Amino acid sequence: MNEIATPALFEAHADPLAEDLSGAHPLFAMAPRSVEFNKLRKRLIRNMREAIEKFGMARPGERWLVAISGGKDSYGMLALLLDLKWRGLLPVELLACNLDQGQPNFPKHILPEWLTASGIAHRIEYKDTYSIVTDKLPQGATYCSLCSRLRRGNLYRIAREEGCSALVLGHHREDSLETFFMNLFHGGKLAAMPPRLMNDDGDIEVLRPMIYCAEPDLEKFAEHMQFPIIPCDLCGSQEGLERNAMKAMLNDIEKRMPGRKDVMIRALGNVNASHLLDPRLFDFLGLQKASTGTGAGA
Ligand code: SF4
Repeated sequence: MNEIATPALFEAHADPLAEDLSGAHPLFAMAPRSVEFNKLRKRLIRNMREAIEKFGMARPGERWLVAISGGKDSYGMLALLLDLKWRGLLPVELLACNLDQGQPNFPKHILPEWLTASGIAHRIEYKDTYSIVTDKLPQGATYCSLCSRLRRGNLYRIAREEGCSALVLGHHREDSLETFFMNLFHGGKLAAMPPRLMNDDGDIEVLRPMIYCAEPDLEKFAEHMQFPIIPCDLCGSQEGLERNAMKAMLNDIEKRMPGRKDVMIRALGNVNASHLLDPRLFDFLGLQKASTGTGAGA
């Protein structure tokens, strides 16, 4: 599973997704044969390819560390990346990685068994960051922020140890939009989740190839694929109230005006800096009349 693929990225295929599932990665062997599922799979793959291509994520011969938590998003991401690679459309090597953070009741056996049975190259790492979080934070606090930071630091370390140039995360369209509105409403800034980001040390990239994938699609995909989901609330903590509020707001907008989430995620890639209020992005002070260059304000 670890060989480095060499075909040119997105080379001209008539339609590499046109064939039925008999040509898909073995992970899809038990997947439904329905037209509905095939459409869903193709839509997710298309969304993923668009992000990988548009943001220049894949460079042939590189090695990616694919973070897998046991949640629906990371299972889906791994399956879709493997399928792209299987079809010769992703010329990088993939290594799945689960960081067991020592949360109480974490079912340790599920991921290693599933990854091994699926023939997927992987590394399972145990690091008890849960104790650090509970030591540092008062009882009743929301753990997720510190827990995620500690997880990210460990995943960077593992990526270095494994010779990976990138850490791949399963954030999707809704994650990015929720972050955007949290920053807008509470942080006083316009910022979402970037599709590509260099870490502070400048040696590992963070990639989010599912940034255009819709969460409801990933939910259906996980159901159809029967992934053995591990819930993320085993530790007893909960996502922040702010993020939940943004999620509810976005779902309400989508219910009343279907299609708005897609419009919003596209809007994040269609920025008009001259119509915002940030002089760091647009030279308002340098605005001059085109004809004479004098008489500003006349
Ligand atoms: S729910 Fe628990 S395991 Fe998941 S990010 Fe929050 S603190 Fe970490």
